[in-house]
Amino acid sequence: MTISTNIEEVGFKPASRIASVGVSKILQIGARAAAMKREGLPVIILGAGEPDFDTPESVKDAAKAAIDAGDTKYTALDGTPALKNAVVAKFRRENAIDYATDEVTIATGAKQILFNAFMATLDAGDEVIIPTPYWTSYSDIVEICGGKSVLIPCEAAAGFRLQAEQLEKAITPKTRWVLLNSPSNPSGAAYSAADYRPLLDVLLRHPHVWLMVDDMYEHIAYEGFDFVTPVAIEPRLKARTLTINGVSKAYAMTGWRIGYAGGPKALIKAMAVIQSQATSCPSSVSQAASVEALNGPQGFLKERQDSFRRRRDLVVERLNRIDGLSCRVPEGAFYTFSGCAGVLGKTTPTGRKLETDSDFTDYLLEEAHVAVVPGSAFGLSPYFRISYATSEAELVEALDRIAGACAALS
Ligand code: PMP
Repeated sequence: MTISTNIEEVGFKPASRIASVGVSKILQIGARAAAMKREGLPVIILGAGEPDFDTPESVKDAAKAAIDAGDTKYTALDGTPALKNAVVAKFRRENAIDYATDEVTIATGAKQILFNAFMATLDAGDEVIIPTPYWTSYSDIVEICGGKSVLIPCEAAAGFRLQAEQLEKAITPKTRWVLLNSPSNPSGAAYSAADYRPLLDVLLRHPHVWLMVDDMYEHIAYEGFDFVTPVAIEPRLKARTLTINGVSKAYAMTGWRIGYAGGPKALIKAMAVIQSQATSCPSSVSQAASVEALNGPQGFLKERQDSFRRRRDLVVERLNRIDGLSCRVPEGAFYTFSGCAGVLGKTTPTGRKLETDSDFTDYLLEEAHVAVVPGSAFGLSPYFRISYATSEAELVEALDRIAGACAALS
């Protein structure tokens, strides 16, 4: 759904910068599924992009203590010294990268980090290379900031990873950024050091291209996969890389709205200019909570990872038993991105022919009462995304229903 520009209909004319930006398909499906639930239908929603765990108690306690201590005023523009120090320590401890405090920025979610970075760097027509499937906000933010998204399809056969030849071919004099996300939303695919190396070599040959990496799912990567971030592999790219991360997924803190990044000082300063006119600073209480998240005990991360891994294995195994579907084993995040080419062309019991992945996910919602998101929402078809951040019992029931719905096709 794109926002209506019909003045008669809505009495409102949006700015041209948002005319081409749609309301997220994920939110639309979520709203429809929620409405069906309210009508009493037993809908299972596998669309959510957030962990089903609670924020750790010690983090909540730190927030309460901050409130009691009067930590309730504007903070330093792009982050409190305490949180910047915690981020510097995190990058050193977990990623072996040395960022100074003035090379670190804090914002209201990683989403605002992306927004600040693109607002601060894109002029009209500047290009951002984004491998698909991709988190849709990437291209929407690029468009809002006046840039142009250059989408490169990366199929399951290539592990949903961008290949060096594809990157080389996509670079033009107008390329400003390449945006990589590992582990990925929606594919769950991740880049090892060996996967990254050829891409970083391409970038070394094109000094005008900057690298943005979204490491949001760093802590949801499974055994046998060693998470690594590009600056740790290739320090020569540090001067033109923005390394983005946040507390939302690792610490189950999506509602606290804190994201952070490390990057070259000049970029960090330019991003602060945008932030100064957008929000003045991130929430003081949430920043205090995030200090505890980053500096506090980290033991629960492994337990949560194990729980997600069990659910991943369950979902992948059951999906691959279904005729017409195929699912690559994701290295991380809490999503599967399965091919559904084998069910297209088939007909539903009510006589509807499934032409696209969106037809298939509509069918699953209407007939099986399972809400999943079509690959088209992430720029790559025919696939569909399941978020398995829900209980094993619910996943088993949902997968049984999907299997039944697929078996009922002719
Ligand atoms: N990056 C990716 C890949 C995501 O999936 C999300 C959340 N859906 C974000 C960034 C944004 O996270 P937040 O704004 O909550 O920090």
